[in-house]
Amino acid sequence: MLSIRYFFVISLLTIMTVFYGVFFYYYLNDQQKKTDLIVESIRHDLSETAYVISSELKTPESIRGFKSFLHRKVANSPLISALVVGYENKIVLTTDPSIQSLPTELTIQKKLMELSPQQLTQHQIFETDIHFFIQDKPSRLNLFLYVDRPYIEKYFAESQHNFLLFFGLVPFLMIMFLWFVLKKYVTLPLELLRQYAYYQSNVPTKFKLRELEYIRSSMVQTFDRLDNEKNELYRQARTDNLSGLANRNHLNERINWLISEYSRTGQEFAVLFMDLDNFKTVNDMLGHEVGDNLLKNVSTIIQEVLRDYDIIARVGGDEFVIVLNYFQSNFELTHVINRILDRISEVHMVDTHPVKVSASIGVVCFPKDGNNITALMKNADIAMYEAKNLGKNQFKFFTESLHKQVIGEIQLEQDMQRGLRNDEFELYFQPKVSVHNDRVVGAEALVRWIDPDKGIIPPNDFIPLAEKTGLMVPLGDWVLKTAIEQQIKWKEQGLGDLQISVNLSPIQLLDTLFDRKIQALINQSGINPAKLDIEMTESQFMENTEQNLNSLTVMRQQGVTISLDDFGTGYSSLAYLKKFPIDTLKIDKSFIDDYATESGAIFIETIVKIAHTLELNVVAEGIEQEAQLNYIAKTGCETYQGYYCSAPLPVAEFEAFMKERSTT
Ligand code: C2E
Ligand code: CA
Ligand code: CA
Repeated sequence: MLSIRYFFVISLLTIMTVFYGVFFYYYLNDQQKKTDLIVESIRHDLSETAYVISSELKTPESIRGFKSFLHRKVANSPLISALVVGYENKIVLTTDPSIQSLPTELTIQKKLMELSPQQLTQHQIFETDIHFFIQDKPSRLNLFLYVDRPYIEKYFAESQHNFLLFFGLVPFLMIMFLWFVLKKYVTLPLELLRQYAYYQSNVPTKFKLRELEYIRSSMVQTFDRLDNEKNELYRQARTDNLSGLANRNHLNERINWLISEYSRTGQEFAVLFMDLDNFKTVNDMLGHEVGDNLLKNVSTIIQEVLRDYDIIARVGGDEFVIVLNYFQSNFELTHVINRILDRISEVHMVDTHPVKVSASIGVVCFPKDGNNITALMKNADIAMYEAKNLGKNQFKFFTESLHKQVIGEIQLEQDMQRGLRNDEFELYFQPKVSVHNDRVVGAEALVRWIDPDKGIIPPNDFIPLAEKTGLMVPLGDWVLKTAIEQQIKWKEQGLGDLQISVNLSPIQLLDTLFDRKIQALINQSGINPAKLDIEMTESQFMENTEQNLNSLTVMRQQGVTISLDDFGTGYSSLAYLKKFPIDTLKIDKSFIDDYATESGAIFIETIVKIAHTLELNVVAEGIEQEAQLNYIAKTGCETYQGYYCSAPLPVAEFEAFMKERSTT
């Protein structure tokens, strides 16, 4: 590729060559013209002298009479240094006494036309003949003209100097000037532009050449724009859009920086993992806009409570991470956390809605609870869940025992996977009995895990973990399938066409194909769908409401009945009772336990009344005493479950129980 410099050099050289060529031509031309002039003048002098002499000469001897004429001629013309007249090879007259003999033929220039400058300077003697008559006899003298060579040389040298001066020096100076201009106004700006394009650091100042200035200013504009866009992208990549707080990327960056910095200095910092309690309910009940605004409120509150140099990030829907790196003591740390919790649990006015939320916070300290970001976040998460389990609206420090608990859970999960593979799960059945005639109308399937080492493990010990780990889906599928098969077997064995209740985890409903799964099970097994009842707890109803509502509605259309389990322990919202496709309310055991107190009794009676008004069945759970049974019979409750009649039984015992009852 050709550089501008080379291009310019080549162009200048070409121009110079042409330039010099042209002027050399003119120079030669000029030399020739001068030569012609000189030759013309010599010719003129010669012929004039010859003419004068020939016209006046009578005898060759009388030539001496022309001596003064010839001297005058020489004196008048700077060109002529001497004039010599020869006759028959002898000098007869000369203006220069130093010339003793006639010139030889070789040194004489006879031809007086078309002489080149070289020829002119080479030859210094020109000759012409002087013709005259001696008594009518033609005779001839030779006239020699000696040119003044130094004069001619000087004459030519002068024009040569001028030529060199004007056509040698001037273009050279011009080229130097152009070179300077090119460097200052073109190549240097271009180099600056190149450096600017490459490093984008030194913005070149304004250029003099318009085109270059256009390029420069548009480059500056483009780089400015790109810079702004880059900054904006960088900001977006590190900021949470909704709250304006840092996002996970930014948080990771800062924590990693703190880890490397504090590892050196041996300092401590705390990471708080905060999750809002029941945020989902706010979102579901009041809409996402209110939910978003609530999150903004909470963000502002945290910012107000904390100091500018504390790091606050929003890392998920309602999850925040706070990094506190300047605190004197755990006392100061807990004080700050309590202020956050207090401020958050105040009533928020969000779009004219009074909203009350709280938060659960897990706290870890670097380096005690983890020396890398993954460990810190994981342990903070564990501590946060512990805070939730302990009743929410509180904080919990990560501890070794918590860690052990998590390790235990991991072990349990692995054991459970093995259990599923090895058929270690078993269904127990608890009869549902009619309050009026004591007949068994159905049975609730309750899962048990028979671990070869630990023995029978109750569902409360593994269902929550199964829900957390994803094992709930295969386990739930197994429960449903086994319960349906059992119903059909018992019917075939003549033990009765019992309605079987199966507990459903909301995790199972998260699968959008769940209703089709049920439909397929019903079709394959040939069970009467009315003999299948699904139990879900009230709090589970509240989660994923839209999806739950859809799935439950589809199931009910298929003929399956729906029971609301543990009623009274959750929200007990009448709106939900109306909205959801429910057939049965199951009054929680805790209320049955309280039946003898005034408030307990009022609650039971109210539930039964509401249920009947809404044309729902009522099942009382956990009836252990005759008195309890007698009491609920009076309220109008139709069905009960409880140890009073029977605890959940393994299949063989349940069959024995049923057979015994049919015989008595
Ligand atoms: P739940 O659905 O409320 O089941 C009733 C629980 O009360 C059962 O405990 C039962 O054994 C116990 N119970 C029944 N009558 C009495 C009584 O008179 N006195 C006392 N003290 N307790 C009584 P279990 O079998 O340990 O089940 C606990 C929970 O585990 C169940 O509560 C249910 O939520 C869950 N669960 C059980 N099996 C399954 C299942 O297959 N799938 C799902 N998702 N959850 C299940
Ligand atoms: Ca149940
Ligand atoms: Ca229950």
